[in-house]
Amino acid sequence: MFFFVSKCPLCKQKGKKVNSDTILHHVKDISRISDKGYSYCSTPSCDIIYFNDKETFTSSTLNKEVGAKDYSSQGALICYCYNYTKLSLDTIGLIDKIQIRIDNYGCRCDIRNPSGQCCIPPIEEAIIQKAVPKHKKRERIKIIDATYD
Ligand SMILES: [Zn+2]
Repeated sequence: MFFFVSKCPLCKQKGKKVNSDTILHHVKDISRISDKGYSYCSTPSCDIIYFNDKETFTSSTLNKEVGAKDYSSQGALICYCYNYTKLSLDTIGLIDKIQIRIDNYGCRCDIRNPSGQCCIPPIEEAIIQKAVPKHKKRERIKIIDATYD
């Protein structure tokens, strides 16, 4: 192989490199981890969490559910340092609550979040995604009203 293109073998999307400490923290059977280096797949519907050109770790090989994936339960974490779950996505001011804690106590998203990245951008995205169907419903009601004008 001439160069390693870090695309997920299942969904074919580009992954993000994660450091070995992060993987060690999340994979159940750490004897399966090689020293080749891995990327994280952030595609919400994809069953693969970590991959390289030889190996993959699917969600069932991790010791926790991954909240950033569509198929994880409502009890799956979205903020791994302060234990907010998918259920918390309806909490008003959720981002501010997490941000205040990070400002005061710091965070270890680099280890605790399976992606190794800050938890706030994906939470913002998830809140937007949740709001989309409601917005569409409102629009449909508006259109119905307009036809009676
Ligand atoms: Zn994938």
